[in-house]
Amino acid sequence: MARHIYVHNPFCARKCPYCDFYSVTDPSFIGAFYKAAIKETLFIGSVIDDASGTNPVTDTDGKDTVYFGGGTPSLPDSDLICSLLNEICKSFDIASDAEITIEANPSSVTSEKLSDYRHAGFNRISLGVQSLDDNVLRTLQRLHDSKGAVEAIRKIGNAGFNNISADLITGVPGETLEGICKDIKTFHDLGIKHISTYSLMLEEGTPFYDRYSKTIEEYVPQETERAMYHGTRDYLQSLGYETYEISNSALPGYKSIHNSAYWNSCEYFSIGAGAHGFLGDMRYGHRDDVMAYIDEMNEITSDDYKAFLEGNKIGLKSLYSEEVLTKEDKMREVPFLRLRTTEGIILDEFFKVFGVKFEDVFGKAVKTNIENGLLERKERTLRLTRSGLDLANKVIEDFL
Ligand code: SF4
Repeated sequence: MARHIYVHNPFCARKCPYCDFYSVTDPSFIGAFYKAAIKETLFIGSVIDDASGTNPVTDTDGKDTVYFGGGTPSLPDSDLICSLLNEICKSFDIASDAEITIEANPSSVTSEKLSDYRHAGFNRISLGVQSLDDNVLRTLQRLHDSKGAVEAIRKIGNAGFNNISADLITGVPGETLEGICKDIKTFHDLGIKHISTYSLMLEEGTPFYDRYSKTIEEYVPQETERAMYHGTRDYLQSLGYETYEISNSALPGYKSIHNSAYWNSCEYFSIGAGAHGFLGDMRYGHRDDVMAYIDEMNEITSDDYKAFLEGNKIGLKSLYSEEVLTKEDKMREVPFLRLRTTEGIILDEFFKVFGVKFEDVFGKAVKTNIENGLLERKERTLRLTRSGLDLANKVIEDFL
């Protein structure tokens, strides 16, 4: 059974004003954090036979995946990152054809680091470009400019990476559809295989929330934002990128296997402060607290870790159980996760896993949303229509 591992690097050089991912800017704990992450890897490795990586809904394509996200994983010295990956590959017995991704920022990725990543086994880079328009990058207060982003993409290619993903943020004040399409064309011409386009979200507690939450409609009216979404998607398609999930598009053969594992309800292990995982019936997390994480990994034993994964250890500083899922919870997660994908809900798979027809559980929500033109049935799948994509959250709410 394929194994999936997520590592959260909780360090950034500077906090972006729109971001609510967990990260800190004090680098003094980086070394201790990576030592703790190796300890956690060894703990999991010692109990791994009991945690099999089962896949309750549908398999991805059977490949193992490791994903270093954050935060900014390209910020720490590459020897810290590569030593942890090495330990993960040994402890989890990661297959040689695994998809192994690291997120990187143009301002911190160097040719030396990229060469080290490649030798350590990383084969996919996800680059946080966000825009190739310097005005938009200034609004986002990113540490790089467009020239730096293009240079970073070239360096990544020169280091031997073929599987490169780039992120774009849409709906930023001052951004236009023409500008986004120009960025996409540049990505295409530079050989980018996968493009993630995220709508700017105003998350409470961030400086952008204070600045724009009351006025965003003046800068980017909702119709403009939606027109941008559909225009971006149509343009991606015209260049051969298939949008396989609301925010993700890829050339044939380059979908993210790791992210697909999330949408397919696969189990995944997690390592690091701020990381979340899913094993058996339990969704679990590590608190957003680097010091608590470092202390905990230095204090507990592998027996403690095993007890936690078995649901028997409470009162830990960092690890906590978020939710123990019942069969009904797992059924409800299927529309929550699968309606984000363009493939949608595979009705026969649902029956195979849960022994009950999807329509027998969610008949009312299915009927109403089909009548309202937000859902469509295609062969044995159920998915959002073009209008449904604009109201995805509302449709999904009907199933919760
Ligand atoms: S670099 Fe990425 S993770 Fe770090 S603050 Fe900015 S958006 Fe958030």
